[in-house]
Amino acid sequence: MGTNFNLFKELLEKANQKTAKTGPYWFKPAPGTTHTLRFLPLKSKNMELPLEIYNHHAINFPDGRFESFACPQKAGEGECEFCKLASASYKKYTATDNVAYKEAFKQLVVKQNYLLVGYEADKIDTSNITEESVKIVRASSKASMEAIVSIMSKEKDFVDFGSGRNVELLKPAGKGAIVATSWAFQDPEPAFAGKNGQAYFDKLIEVSPDLTALITPPTPEKMAELMARFTSQPKVDEPVVSPTFQAAKQPTKKTASVETSDDMGDDELAALRASLQED
Ligand SMILES: [Zn+2]
Repeated sequence: MGTNFNLFKELLEKANQKTAKTGPYWFKPAPGTTHTLRFLPLKSKNMELPLEIYNHHAINFPDGRFESFACPQKAGEGECEFCKLASASYKKYTATDNVAYKEAFKQLVVKQNYLLVGYEADKIDTSNITEESVKIVRASSKASMEAIVSIMSKEKDFVDFGSGRNVELLKPAGKGAIVATSWAFQDPEPAFAGKNGQAYFDKLIEVSPDLTALITPPTPEKMAELMARFTSQPKVDEPVVSPTFQAAKQPTKKTASVETSDDMGDDELAALRASLQED
């Protein structure tokens, strides 16, 4: 039997193929820049809503990895070990005044963001609409979430093709909660002018990411695995305060393409504590 050169060619082609870059793609506002975004109705909401409320944990693990995942308790799927640990950390903090427990609580406590999907209206190349054209946009600051609640409660549709609105997102240069990204909804206007406008819009919706997987909490088995990883102690020669606190002191490398939430101030912390006690 001779050498199958075609097979080798196939093998070579396969080996040299660039690994397909798979989504989801996250929108990252550039500091000091105003971005003009247009949002789309969500597949995960049967195209009836423009946002998901994402209750999640954003955790730096002792092994240096960062992961965010939906909270099963907030999703009504039973207890959540991370919420329990957050609550326990808070109780220890109030009992001892040890800030390590406060830091642990801040990291462990469930966080709420709004997730939307959209594209940059002034940058979109309508001749080349791909999955990368539509990004997941996170509203994580109090101000941005309030802007969304405000327009939704006025029953102003911002994702309709004809009467929707662009949103101007400004992320000021600098750091911290004072320079949170601001969202300004503009006057109604069609997403695209011209006779092909609706077709471009439909295509963008077609390629938009489905948020269902993202907002679905991990299975109980996966949750147990996450907690085991979180409570594992790679260093045994250091006094154990909390794995979180140790992780926070070490430079962390992010493996997930997810941004951490804005830094939290003390009043936000109080609000978080209150939300925890309501449960
Ligand atoms: Zn939880």
